[in-house]
Amino acid sequence: MSRNPRYDILFEPVKIGPVTAPNRFYCTPHALGTGNQMPNTRAAMREVRAEGGWGVVNTGYCSIHPSSDDAPLPYCRLWNDDDIAVHELMVDAVHRHGSLAGVELWHGGGGTGNKMTRMPLMSVSGISSNSTYPGWINLARSRPMDKQDIREFRQWHVDAAVRAKSAGFDIVYVYAGMNFGPYQFLLPWLNERSDEYGGSLANRVRLTREIIEDMKAAVGDSCAIALRFSTDELLNVPGENLPSEAHEIISTLSDVPDLWDLKSSDWVVETTSARFAEQGAQEPWVSFAKSLTSKPVVGVGRFTSPDVMVSQIKRGVLDLVGAARPSIADPFLPNKINAGREDEIRECIGCNICVSGYHDSVPIRCTQNPTMGEEWRRDWHPERIPSGDPATSVLIVGAGPAGLECARALGQRGFAVTLAEARGELGGRASIESSLPGLASWARVRDYRSNLLQTMGNVDIYPGNKLSSADIIDFNCDHAVIATGAKWTREILSERGIPVAGFGAEAIFTPDDILAGAVPEGPVLIYDFDHYYMGACIAELLAARGCEVTIATPANAISAWTFMNNDLGNIRRRIIDLGIATEIDHRLTGFGDGVAELTSVYRDTDRKNLTAASLVVVGVRKSCDDLFEDLQSNADRLADASFLSLRKIGDCRVPGTIAHAVYSGHEWARLIDADKNEDPANAIKWERPNLDNP
Ligand code: ADP
Ligand code: SF4
Repeated sequence: MSRNPRYDILFEPVKIGPVTAPNRFYCTPHALGTGNQMPNTRAAMREVRAEGGWGVVNTGYCSIHPSSDDAPLPYCRLWNDDDIAVHELMVDAVHRHGSLAGVELWHGGGGTGNKMTRMPLMSVSGISSNSTYPGWINLARSRPMDKQDIREFRQWHVDAAVRAKSAGFDIVYVYAGMNFGPYQFLLPWLNERSDEYGGSLANRVRLTREIIEDMKAAVGDSCAIALRFSTDELLNVPGENLPSEAHEIISTLSDVPDLWDLKSSDWVVETTSARFAEQGAQEPWVSFAKSLTSKPVVGVGRFTSPDVMVSQIKRGVLDLVGAARPSIADPFLPNKINAGREDEIRECIGCNICVSGYHDSVPIRCTQNPTMGEEWRRDWHPERIPSGDPATSVLIVGAGPAGLECARALGQRGFAVTLAEARGELGGRASIESSLPGLASWARVRDYRSNLLQTMGNVDIYPGNKLSSADIIDFNCDHAVIATGAKWTREILSERGIPVAGFGAEAIFTPDDILAGAVPEGPVLIYDFDHYYMGACIAELLAARGCEVTIATPANAISAWTFMNNDLGNIRRRIIDLGIATEIDHRLTGFGDGVAELTSVYRDTDRKNLTAASLVVVGVRKSCDDLFEDLQSNADRLADASFLSLRKIGDCRVPGTIAHAVYSGHEWARLIDADKNEDPANAIKWERPNLDNP
């Protein structure tokens, strides 16, 4: 297959200062969860994007000095010459594939924590912009920067840029966005200075201009200097000559940087999940920039459609198509478009599980791409997989995310695969849950896999086939894989996670009941101690049908875990907008006769009764492993079947997210023919600390 000429424009080279990007696919700086502590993991996670055709691949935020320390969150650093070598690994890996390597130099100013280095924070005027933001609360405040601080601040940028050049980077960033150091100087509400760095816009821009010019003088002969700048907040501040200060700043600095990288000032907004924002939602913050500079402009927008990308370029919004999430979900997105295989793109579903990996300070993981983060330590590649024996037959029971991924990967390996699914439709929970408000894109988990499976001659698919253990034995396969999922239960747990006695009332529903079409009589109480998306999604679904809904939780927020995937605030806003009542910090202690009893998690004696005709319990999922247990429990039948392996995968093995299920299916497809006497954990490589430190 060859490339559709409609997409030729995406493969044009773009000159960025002294370097040239081979195409318009630009992997923007994004957090990876690795930091300097995991250089091999980081290099491999970036390399796979270069191999997949991204013309530019950047690091995540890279601290220039110990006075900018974001621990315990994982960031990388270039604090002295000893830090150069770990970056060379990544640069060499990216260069191997003809792509440019960029480094996002960063100083957080008053917007970081210095919890590890314990250095005093400093900022433009001593206001710590993030210090009241729950989740990033830092008890230390910042001191205002004096002239000596500013001189050193500039020098640290130069020193780090020189180190970056020596590591081989082609693009070096100045980070004047997202509440970090130089950006704080730009903001009139943070900059209270009366010297030449405060007051007028020209003065507030001075530091950013100086840093760019210093860096150009130091490394600009061979490195492009990119400016990362946030426009959204400043769009609300009227400019002197132009509509806003965002316009004014781009116009003032116009061609000073070699590249403009535009993003929102708030990471939570920039990474809005598909539940709350469409592809390309950031266009209003970016679209005006190109009229104010002749330098290339890059921006993001969870772009997965090549047509949308082409439209952004042709309409003069962007020169380079920026991506973090689409490049995580499919590192080979550019190469697939180039080869006319856009049907095979593994489209990001916008779930933000990747974001949660960074918050957890572990290498990011991805719902769609189970190999992300496993490239180095497990030698997993998103496109290549070792071949298997075509004469070996595998029966997979259940075509949810786990079964589908297992079948896809085993099919790619060349095994003779049969996939049986009880329902008429493939996809399991990915199909069912995609009917919930805002989750339509989750069906991409099914679509990517079922599209590929249709093309595989060695895979037979049987929807509408509910198998019994006798069917599985009669089928006479070499390997049987049970992927029959999990079900929500009505179980209520105590504060210690111990099941408490049920309420014995009739009108108690689970999310599975509601998704299967049950219509609970209102008013409905949703009791959510799962803390992820399901409770609030069910609330939204029922409220949209006109039902009176209250959602109660023992946590201190609705969907409390979603702080980790940046959904928390949007869920709260949605609940307020829909008029859904909430009861936080309360445990459900009784239900019956149209009344629910809630008890404060802080005081047993604080109890209240709510009118509730129906109750939806969103708490515990249990594996549907009856089929597996039935096979397992009958030794004679099992001996007759003489399987080489019988294995549970996905939710049937351990209930979890869709990301867990996909990973589980993929992992078993790789391990199914491994030597059963070897512990697969021994095959995993772990990064080791450098013991040579002086
Ligand atoms: P996972 O997330 O682990 O993939 P799902 O619940 O999404 O789990 O999918 C499990 C799938 O297994 C569902 O589509 C369900 O219809 C199917 N299934 C369950 N029992 C059987 C069976 N006995 N035969 C065939 N398919 C089954
Ligand atoms: Fe996209 Fe979800 Fe993967 Fe992140 S985890 S890249 S949001 S599919």
